[in-house]
Amino acid sequence: MNPDVNQVVLLGVKGGPAIRPGSSMPTSILVQMAGKTVLVDAGLGCASAICKAGDALTDLDAVLVTHLHSDHYLELGPLLHTAWTAGLKRPLPVYGPSGLGAYWQGFMASMAYDIDTRTADEGRPDFASLFPIHLLDEETRLGIGDITVTALRNHHPPVVESYALRLESPHHSVTLSGDTAPIEEMVAFAIGSDLLVHEAMLTDAIRTLCDRIDYSDDRLYDHIIRSHTPAHEAAKIAARAGVHRLALNHLVPSEEPGITSATWHAAVTPHFDGHILIGEDGMVIPLDEVP
Ligand SMILES: [Zn+2]
Ligand SMILES: [Zn+2]
Repeated sequence: MNPDVNQVVLLGVKGGPAIRPGSSMPTSILVQMAGKTVLVDAGLGCASAICKAGDALTDLDAVLVTHLHSDHYLELGPLLHTAWTAGLKRPLPVYGPSGLGAYWQGFMASMAYDIDTRTADEGRPDFASLFPIHLLDEETRLGIGDITVTALRNHHPPVVESYALRLESPHHSVTLSGDTAPIEEMVAFAIGSDLLVHEAMLTDAIRTLCDRIDYSDDRLYDHIIRSHTPAHEAAKIAARAGVHRLALNHLVPSEEPGITSATWHAAVTPHFDGHILIGEDGMVIPLDEVP
């Protein structure tokens, strides 16, 4: 990457794991500040999205996983394996909730034949030691070069270990809500950020979405409603936190006929008078240009 680039790239902006023809992709966000490139979440499609954004997988400096819903880490193993075959030689630390280690051991076991073969036959570096797995929790205070990362436990039932993240460099600050219902603590956590990337749903459209999927009962509907944030609540949090920009992300619904970026704007503009972005896959948000 260009070390002078300070930006956030929304690699995938849909909420939830399913993809369908024409849909956007599950969650992953690239944060590039102070010469470092940090991937937050590794949803399906993240490896190709990073390359499409013009970044080499070998340029990643850290990967952070906010929680263990599959739309946030389904492609973690394939991403790291592909970084390895793309020539990664230095350790790439991975941070996530307890349980990520078990996923990682399982992934490595599932790929043991390939990993062992390529290591012996192609002389690639030792796979396991390239990817140290570290615990992410609310005590986390992590330095990645000049970036400091802090975490806030959010409210995403039934998932207990689920986190919002704040990444700060000497010149920029970005807060990512993760998956969460609206919480009071997010206001102080995001305060003064250059950019708040907050998850958002359009509550009125969730019933239509669930009816179309045709689940046999209301559990999916109830899960979405109790563990995610209505768009207007995200806007209120952004306003109270005094952030400069709000990007809506993890959009639910993401492919409902008739719902456009104008629908999302209409939900948030009455509550936030800063700059509003409605996330799209591949959207680049420069941090040096204040609109
Ligand atoms: Zn999610
Ligand atoms: Zn989730």
